[in-house]
Amino acid sequence: MSSSLNLQIEICKNILKASGTKNEDRLKLIETMDPDFFEKKIYGQISKELIREPILLVGNKREITRTATKALVGENEEVIKLPDTSPYGEIIVDTNKCTLCLACISLCPTNALEDNADKPELNFTENACIQCGICENTCPETAIKLNPQINLNNEALSQKTLHSEEPFECISCNRPFGVKSTINRIVSKLENNHWMYQDSKKLDLVKMCDDCRVNAQYHDENSPFKYGEKPKIRTTDDYQ
Ligand code: SF4
Ligand code: SF4
Repeated sequence: MSSSLNLQIEICKNILKASGTKNEDRLKLIETMDPDFFEKKIYGQISKELIREPILLVGNKREITRTATKALVGENEEVIKLPDTSPYGEIIVDTNKCTLCLACISLCPTNALEDNADKPELNFTENACIQCGICENTCPETAIKLNPQINLNNEALSQKTLHSEEPFECISCNRPFGVKSTINRIVSKLENNHWMYQDSKKLDLVKMCDDCRVNAQYHDENSPFKYGEKPKIRTTDDYQ
């Protein structure tokens, strides 16, 4: 319990430091079972100098934290660095590593990460990110890094695109699917390198959407469906 409270105190100290009040040492953890001792301690700590103007605290916990931080910090600082494991912050994506597999999006518990139904795209809303680290641990390309901070700019409230690419167009029906650079990379790795893909028809399957690939395999000369009726399965009962 006290370790999570200590983290919250560290977060508040960073906010107070950014406010320029030089009062960050006022924050202390009071651990006592004696209510009188607690009351005496807490009244001794209250300072009206910290709040410049009265503020109305409404909304959820995150909105209240944001409003209170803005009231304390004012125009002094727009991005406040926070200690590791703080529940506020952004993610940094290495676009050279990211293949837009979208695995991180499917596991993000707060929808801070979202895709675009029309093209391969990784979108992020900083205010919704709780820095749980699931995306960082899930990414197969180790392309994600967490960056704990409180961003007081309004841009943190809206979605921004971290990475985006053109989709690949199916060579049979022209329907967009997958990521262009990824399909091209797979084709160049298989072409002239893998014995199964010496035939250009096999390589064309990689460049087709799911429907066209199944259709092409069904009509292929080696399709198992061309071998007529499936032979009847015989068991020992048939020979008795
Ligand atoms: S950041 Fe990683 S998990 Fe997310 S889309 Fe890119 S490669 Fe996939
Ligand atoms: S750290 Fe957690 S909340 Fe933030 S984007 Fe990643 S999965 Fe979503």
